[in-house]
Amino acid sequence: MPSPHASQPAMIDPFGRSITYLRVSVTDRCDFRCTYCMAEDMAFLPKKDLLSLEEIDRLVTVFVDKGVRKIRLTGGEPLVRKNVMHLIRRLSRHLDSGAMDELTLTTNGSQLARLAGELADCGIRRINVSLDTLDREKFRAITRWGDLDRVMAGIDAAQAAGIAIKLNAVALKDFNEREIPDLLRFAHGRSMDLTVIETMPMGEIEADRTDQYLPLSLLRASLERQFTLTDIPYRTGGPARYVHVAETGGKLGFITPMTHNFCESCNRVRLTCTGTLYMCLGQDDAADLRGPLRASPDDLLVSDAIDEAIGRKPKGHDFVIDRRSRRPAVARHMSVTGG
Ligand code: SAM
Ligand code: SF4
Repeated sequence: MPSPHASQPAMIDPFGRSITYLRVSVTDRCDFRCTYCMAEDMAFLPKKDLLSLEEIDRLVTVFVDKGVRKIRLTGGEPLVRKNVMHLIRRLSRHLDSGAMDELTLTTNGSQLARLAGELADCGIRRINVSLDTLDREKFRAITRWGDLDRVMAGIDAAQAAGIAIKLNAVALKDFNEREIPDLLRFAHGRSMDLTVIETMPMGEIEADRTDQYLPLSLLRASLERQFTLTDIPYRTGGPARYVHVAETGGKLGFITPMTHNFCESCNRVRLTCTGTLYMCLGQDDAADLRGPLRASPDDLLVSDAIDEAIGRKPKGHDFVIDRRSRRPAVARHMSVTGG
């Protein structure tokens, strides 16, 4: 549905999908180095290539004017970008005006204990927190140096501030596959939904992705030996398919890019911290918006560049973890576009 506040025609892609959801990676940097996401010695973007917070605000506002109703900030770790709260506070004006329905973020939780109150104050009502294990040692190993207690304190602080949390766990063979029942009980016991995600072949990492890949169909079958799972039509506007878990009374989502094609209803595009717009998470085609943004103080050029890019949004991705080439499906890491 076009926004009643949008001052320009809605963005409709060549397959008739209305683009109402923008994910913004505000930084490619992170205080963790999750083994499935990043190499240990990641080369991050030079600071000079980054959009300033003012430029991100300007670009996002153009998207809101063009009908985007939901923004998710991600990264890298969005909350480690310097002065990110300044950006979040600026963006919250679109919630106050009714131009936007939701401002949210995906975070590793490391900074939440410090920032949860301010986030709630900016109108953030729910967030996704990534948590792959409840075991301190395993947490340190998968994040390479993260502190589980700090993330737990962040979860406590966010809930105390009235922010609803959905936990995201990447399902990893031989790492957390047997721990998912515990994560499920923990999440539902604290009134959080849980979503499990298949690993996607994005960017070179040290590990072999065919060793990490756990098809969620197998995970679901194993969970069904302990829990009663019933498919439900619940949707959050994302690609997860949900089940209700009778024993815990909560919801469990499955994101299955590798085994299930969720592209038909895709309503989103992704902006990187250098102003590159990716029309699909699983494809390399992209449009530069930084050039047109900087070329003119009015937003006409950038608005045209967005229209042109949406006109090229592909039908879908074709991720495959290729056992022979063992190369990632797309060269960039997940931290560039933020999942
Ligand atoms: N740093 C934040 C966090 O971890 O929540 C936001 C960015 S992170 C790239 C977003 C999500 O992508 C996280 O839930 C993470 O687990 C997931 N992710 C990272 N690399 C992935 C991969 N190769 N396959 C599937 N999910 C991945
Ligand atoms: Fe950082 Fe998130 Fe990637 Fe982990 S998944 S390295 S927390 S960006």
